[in-house]
Formats: sequence, structure tokens, C-alpha cells
Amino acid sequence: MSNAETDAAAVRCGALVEGDRPTGSPRVDVLSAREVPLGGPRAMRVRRTLPQRERTLIGAWCFADHYGPHQVAASAGMNLPPHPHTGLQTVSWLFSGEIEHRDTLGSHALIRPGEMNLMTGGHGIAHSEVSTPNSTVIHGVQLWVALPEEHRSTARDFQHYVPEPVEVDGAGIKVFLGSLVGRTSPVRSFTPLLGAEIVLEPHATLTLTVDEAFEHGLLVDSGPIRLIDTVLRPTELGYVPRGTETLTMANETDAPARTLLLGGPPFDEEIVMWWNFIGRSHEDIAKAREDWEASSERFGVIEDFPGGRLSAPALPNSVITPRRNPPPR
Ligand code: MN
Repeated sequence: MSNAETDAAAVRCGALVEGDRPTGSPRVDVLSAREVPLGGPRAMRVRRTLPQRERTLIGAWCFADHYGPHQVAASAGMNLPPHPHTGLQTVSWLFSGEIEHRDTLGSHALIRPGEMNLMTGGHGIAHSEVSTPNSTVIHGVQLWVALPEEHRSTARDFQHYVPEPVEVDGAGIKVFLGSLVGRTSPVRSFTPLLGAEIVLEPHATLTLTVDEAFEHGLLVDSGPIRLIDTVLRPTELGYVPRGTETLTMANETDAPARTLLLGGPPFDEEIVMWWNFIGRSHEDIAKAREDWEASSERFGVIEDFPGGRLSAPALPNSVITPRRNPPPR
């Protein structure tokens, strides 16, 4: 996924004040999505719930785009030419369709439903993502994870993992990152993370034991789903602060309801996000942009992509201004 917003607003994220803990019953904040075109004249539109003014990070999860179901025949589908990333990992998760991924490690992979692809763009990587002719409907999410300072310039990497589904209390769960319901993903992350797809059967209620050091986000694909005491409609992201040991979710409808559960301990570093880069300063971002525009070896080359690559938008005239998470409750 590429951030193709033409204004490419700079976002400065973090940092939480250590030592604050919420007390009493957790409250769910409802974060609404905004529609963003991915770029191009027939661009597929995506629904972005992170980052936004009310919340920039949930754990190290710093970007959440939810798209589809799109009939590919009626639109361009996903067509993202080579573009760079720094300081982050991308997590691709599909509900339907098929995406062809190429990157400057030489990876050439097909991304399919239920199969997680995690790409690490530490110091620098570039990739392309194009929906294939096998995709009649494309539907899924693209998530980004911020890398901590210690690892933000790590070598580029690509991992593929197919979690085995587990059935619990009328729910089908696929744990693609971290641990939940006794399942642990073998995929390496640089901060503790949770990522799982949960499908609730009609009228199922599921109570999950979670790490109380984690904050959580529940992104609803189909529903509505009641999370604790709050009803979340499809496309909404419910946020629960750290300090809770259980999360209860219920599907009160007559159809299955699908959601993604994300979590992690609050990410206590300030980061700067601009276009497809994460850094720690305006200078980091400016250097990454300059390197991409100069076709630097920092990002590498995708040899077999039929077509040109994305150019970075112009940097903002002003120094990137901070935008922080609200103080914890
Ligand atoms: Mn991308």
C-alpha cells in the first residue's frame, strides 16, 4: 500500500506519557474512517482509520487502510507501481482477491486471503502491489507497524505466514502476529504486537483474555459488533486503552461478522510519518525523499515491473509539525 494523498500531510505521532494507567471499566473510543483515493484516475478508494487526529498509534500499529469489497471489473482494482518505505513494516491481509507483490529483495509473491505478508522496510525498500486477473473482488486491509529506534534502520525483509484457524466459542480466529487463544504466530516483530482476524458466528459472544499491558483496536469489516458496551459499525475502529485483561465482543446479527483485533503496548517514541516514510525528524524524511528521487541504492530496483515508479510528492514548505496521541485516560 502507498499513501497517495496529494497533500501528503505530515503527521508526527506519539509519545505517550509513561506512568498513566486508566482506571475502572475500559471505555471504547470509536474512530471513524475517512475515504482516501490510492492515486490514479480510476483509483480505488480506501478507508483510513489510522492515523487520525484523535489517535495516531495503537501499540506500534500506525496506519490502517481498509478497502473493498471492490468489483475489480468496475474499477482499477489495486495498481500501485514501485514505491519506497522506511522505518516501518507493512502487513497485508486479504479477505478476498489476489495481489501480486514484488519488492527490491527480489521477492515475487502472491498475496491471498488468510495469508499474511509482512514486509520490513527498515533502512529502505521498494515494492509494487497489483491485483491480479484472478481477482474479481478485492477486499482486505493494509497495516503499517512503526519500527522502534533500535531497529528502524534494519535490513529489508519479507515474511509470509498462513495461520491455522482455531474455533473458540462460536468464533473462527486466525492469529497472524503475537499470541491469542493459545496460538502464537512465529512471525518476528520488533515490538510486542497482536494481530488476528476474528469471524463471529451469528449471535456469538466471545470473551478473550488479553495482555493488560496492551492497548487494542478492533477494526470492524462486517457487523455491527458490540465491543464491551459499545456498538461498532462496519469500517469503524474501536480503541480500548491498556489495563484490561479481557475483551468481550458480540455479534447480535443473523449473519457472520468479521473483524481484526490489533494490539500492542503503547509506543513511547515520537515518530514522523510523511508519504511512505517514517523517521524521527523532518531531516530524516527529507533525506529519504531525496534518496528515492535520486534512485539511490538505499531502496533498490524492481527489475521486472512493467512500468514506471511512483514519484514522491513535494515536501511541505514548513518543517513538519507535531501531531500527538491524546494523553492516556
Ligand atoms: Mn506500500
